[in-house]
Amino acid sequence: MRFKGTTIFVTGGAGFIGSAVVRHLLRDTHARVVNIDKLTYAANLNSLLTATGNPRYAFERQCICDGPGLRQLFERYQPDAVMNLAAESHVDRSIDGPGEFVQTNIVGTFTILQESLRHYRSLEGEKRDRFRFLHISTDEVFGSLGKDGLFTETTAYAPNSPYSASKASSDHLVRAWRETYGLPTLVTNCSNNYGPYHFPEKLIPHMIIKGLHGENLPVYGDGQNIRDWLFVEDHAKALTMVLERGAPGETYNVGGRNERTNLQVVETVCDLLDRLAPAAEGRHRRLISFVANRPGHDRRYAIDASKLERELGWEAEENFESGIEKTVNWYLDNRVWWQDILDRGYQQDRIGLG
Ligand code: NAD
Repeated sequence: MRFKGTTIFVTGGAGFIGSAVVRHLLRDTHARVVNIDKLTYAANLNSLLTATGNPRYAFERQCICDGPGLRQLFERYQPDAVMNLAAESHVDRSIDGPGEFVQTNIVGTFTILQESLRHYRSLEGEKRDRFRFLHISTDEVFGSLGKDGLFTETTAYAPNSPYSASKASSDHLVRAWRETYGLPTLVTNCSNNYGPYHFPEKLIPHMIIKGLHGENLPVYGDGQNIRDWLFVEDHAKALTMVLERGAPGETYNVGGRNERTNLQVVETVCDLLDRLAPAAEGRHRRLISFVANRPGHDRRYAIDASKLERELGWEAEENFESGIEKTVNWYLDNRVWWQDILDRGYQQDRIGLG
């Protein structure tokens, strides 16, 4: 009976990870879910077709920077928890236009912290004891690793992009609202996610779609930058576990122990396309080309998730090989989902060269 009688606000629930969290909460728990999303370019309500019509699901179009709007939602729904995923999330976009990142990721987090605190202070008894604010963040706040080592919960913050700096700022605000005002907050820092319903600007769906169209597959720099990949549904499960069992004031790293260079990722996508959607023109690897690197491109991220595994019993169900095959299959079976985004005018052009 997980989350029976519990109302959870999921901000950014129409985005990639947020929609996975909403689907997971509705499928695997008894929670009532209120999806609070401004519906930016990255949002897609077609990712939530299974949620629409569920009596435990409500959608509210709302910006997290708007305090009075949020206050009305807190008063109407009286939530037991907030999972804060709403964010601007694309590093390349943050290089060209950092203002939106400062606005949503910092000012928005500040605003929803303030409204959560106001609500928390109005609660009494068990409802007050149970209230949690879970802030979802990234491993990019830790900066870049050398060849060895892993990010742990005690690694010093050293963000290098406008995106990671805005996320780092929001993490600090969340910590301060706990230390100063006693709001029961938790923070998770996760490595790169991939999986179904991922907006085509991100590396893996970008390569799948371009590969299917027989277009050039542009790899930044020498392709040797390393990311630690986690299947999005494993992330969603980790987040509900942290909400349920995590200790307020703690941070938890989430990662799948799946370090891959960007070139390895693209080659794996190519090989899967060769098998699942062969092209008459030949192997998909022929489409790979190397292009100018992203300015300030962190060399390596890798997560030590042992605290989450040890203390809360979380374990990733997918490894990179199983997860990436599921993902490529999903994009093959759900062309309507991504074709609709391309038809709305998303160009797949290179941005973020500074
Ligand atoms: P996304 O870009 O796919 O979705 C973000 C969602 O937030 C969208 O639906 C958008 O409409 C909404 N949103 C943006 N600004 C808003 C605002 N002002 N008010 C209300 N809603 C707003 O992002 P994602 O990849 O799903 O990431 C979700 C969270 O997880 C982010 O906080 C991100 O920093 C974090 N994260 C992402 C990854 C990853 O690999 N994608 C890894 C670790 C952490």
